[in-house]
Amino acid sequence: MKELKNMPLLPLRGVMVFPYMIIHLDVGREKSIAALEKAMVQDRLIMLSTQKDANTDKPEPDDIFKVGTVAEVKQLLKLPGGTIRVLVEGLYRAEIVEYISEEPYYEVEINEFKDAEEKPTDVEALTRAVVSQFENWVKLSKKIPPETMVSVVVVEEPGRLSDLIVSHLSLKIEDKQLLLEAIDIKERLEKLCEILAREMEILELEKKIAGRVRKQMEKTQKEYYLREQLKAIQKELGEKDDKSIEIAEYREKLEKGNYPEEIKDKIKKEISRLEKMPNMAAETSVVRTYIECLLSLPWGVYTEDNLDINHAEDILNADHFGLDKVKERILEYLSIRKLTDSIKGPILCLVGPPGVGKTSLARSIAKAVDRKFVRVSLGGVRDEAEIRGHRRTYVGAMPGRIIQGMRTAGSSNPVFLLDEIDKMNADFRGDPSAALLEVLDPEQNNTFSDHYVENAFDLSKVLWVVTANTVHNIPRPLRDRMEVINIAGYTEEEKIQIAKRYLIEKQLKEHGLNNKQVSIADNTIQKVISEYTRESGVRSLERSIANLCRKAARKIVQEDKKSIKITVQNLHTFLGSAKYHKRQAENKDQVGVSTGLAWTEVGGDVLPTEVSILKGKGNLILTGQLGDVMKESAQAGLSYIRSRVEKLGIEPDFYEKNDIHIHLPEGAIPKDGPSAGITMATAVVSALTGKKVRTDVAMTGEITLRGRVLPIGGLKEKVLAAHRLGIKTIILPKENKRDMDDIPNNIRKQLEFVLVEHMDEVLNCAMVESNE
Ligand code: ADP
Repeated sequence: MKELKNMPLLPLRGVMVFPYMIIHLDVGREKSIAALEKAMVQDRLIMLSTQKDANTDKPEPDDIFKVGTVAEVKQLLKLPGGTIRVLVEGLYRAEIVEYISEEPYYEVEINEFKDAEEKPTDVEALTRAVVSQFENWVKLSKKIPPETMVSVVVVEEPGRLSDLIVSHLSLKIEDKQLLLEAIDIKERLEKLCEILAREMEILELEKKIAGRVRKQMEKTQKEYYLREQLKAIQKELGEKDDKSIEIAEYREKLEKGNYPEEIKDKIKKEISRLEKMPNMAAETSVVRTYIECLLSLPWGVYTEDNLDINHAEDILNADHFGLDKVKERILEYLSIRKLTDSIKGPILCLVGPPGVGKTSLARSIAKAVDRKFVRVSLGGVRDEAEIRGHRRTYVGAMPGRIIQGMRTAGSSNPVFLLDEIDKMNADFRGDPSAALLEVLDPEQNNTFSDHYVENAFDLSKVLWVVTANTVHNIPRPLRDRMEVINIAGYTEEEKIQIAKRYLIEKQLKEHGLNNKQVSIADNTIQKVISEYTRESGVRSLERSIANLCRKAARKIVQEDKKSIKITVQNLHTFLGSAKYHKRQAENKDQVGVSTGLAWTEVGGDVLPTEVSILKGKGNLILTGQLGDVMKESAQAGLSYIRSRVEKLGIEPDFYEKNDIHIHLPEGAIPKDGPSAGITMATAVVSALTGKKVRTDVAMTGEITLRGRVLPIGGLKEKVLAAHRLGIKTIILPKENKRDMDDIPNNIRKQLEFVLVEHMDEVLNCAMVESNE
């Protein structure tokens, strides 16, 4: 049944109007407006058909779909700019059969399709399927509110129903056109079913993808968030905690300690400064070190003295052999301290060669009076700042050695040993001895100020012990404040006793041995002393004993021996061959060689002097690293000889034809001092006269131009050295007689001393009378 009708056509762009649909359309094109106007003057009906391509401005009939919808114009509104907004309602489907006219608008002849009124029975199932699919779609897509859905699904006519559904779906134009063209209801429902199924599939997929993306997003976001939180927590907790724990510790220590008020205030100030500083600030470590330094100093901490002199004596005796005079002086010193309780006592200064027990004596003093002990070496200190510290503005500033020592001691009244004070030097960086003066001066040292610490520290309760090898190199102002105690060095006998009573026991213990496993006979010790060491103290001796213990320990372990006996015979298997040989009388008397006695920082020594006469012009050649004083005393000796040529039986003009060469062997060791005067003169006389000098005679003494012999220093050390080397007779200046009391009795008995006032007496004694 065909109903053909003529009607104006409105081509639609991008939209599609279905029957039952009410929609606003904005119409702007002239042709379309003309079509509308035509419809308005007719029956308000207009054919709506969609353009195949929305972008075509002036569509030809071919550009327009054949099937469209006839609609009724409900409202018409002119908008500014010439556009017209119309409200249309779709009525029924229609197909363009023919274009009647094309201008001023398209007039078309259409074929109408109206849905049958009655419901075909066989579409019921299809309808239900469509409805349920639509319901699912609504649920899934959430694009339309459920009420709208309800209003749709109650529609009974399947044709209308499907058109309503389509109007809610956002489909492509092609799909919609397909549905529009499905005139047959069954076909329409089937197509819709298909499209809905496809849409559902797409929706599901979309949802899945969205879900996955969200999950991924959530995961990374969650992680990121948590990590950031963790970082923040760590930062808050961790760092702040470290610092606040530290600060709390400082505060606690400050409260517990017995700090003077001003120090307390200062530390408090520094702590709050530290608290306010950002954690990363470079200065925190500076402030921290400073606080720690102040906190760790023993402000007002004192140990109680044990002033029991008997106890002190016991300890000194237990730790050291001999040294009676020294011990006596120390005990006297302690007694005075007990009596007066005055703090302004002198400073003990132990002077002597290395290894005579200065350090260990100081340690014993500390033990004797129950004080803490600290040792600071001043050897090589050139900079005042090493004593007094650097100002805190310096990079890497530190307190000076004195304050550091006090920190180690942990009490304000320790026994403080300043080692090797004579090895301190002054240079452009300031004089350390000036700073040391302040440290040692009882008038000043109760307010000693270190540059780093800044606040005054009380050093007045410290018991100062200073050591030096020679008293001469101690700066004068310092020396004046000290009570000098000389320790000259040990005789062989003393060394044997020290070894037997102390060193062997000590070393055995240190090596995990006992005296049943290793035994060392007396004569073996003596051999070690005379052939393996040459020293005033016992340091090498102790080292050699340690060496013996090491070797013995190895034998016991490796060769599974129960006990080892070290004897004179097997000594070389432990220590190797002897390093020194006793200078024996077998050394024949010689011409031009005399034996002097020298005193060095490491104790006394025997100094052979050689002279040879060469053809020349009266030059005096001196070799062997002699100092100026020594050179001058050689000159003086020579002048004396020239004035006495006749009496000595020397050619008067010897110095015109000859050069005289004086050499003191071991040329690498610098030598100085006037005490070799008579030795050099003796050797020169011997060389000139051709008379031999006795090798078992050693001599020491300064010479004047007129041949007087003047006294010398370090007598005890020189005598001990001569004795060590097997000298029998010693020529001494008469004025040194008073020093002979220092020489141990047993040694004095073994030696012959010739006290002289004049060079003639020296020659008388030293020269072998006849050269047979
Ligand atoms: P110094 O400080 O004079 O160089 P040390 O105090 O270091 O000498 O002594 C070196 C070693 O010799 C130490 O082990 C010390 O105990 C020991 N010693 C030195 N003199 C004696 C002595 N009279 N009695 C016991 N041991 C001594």
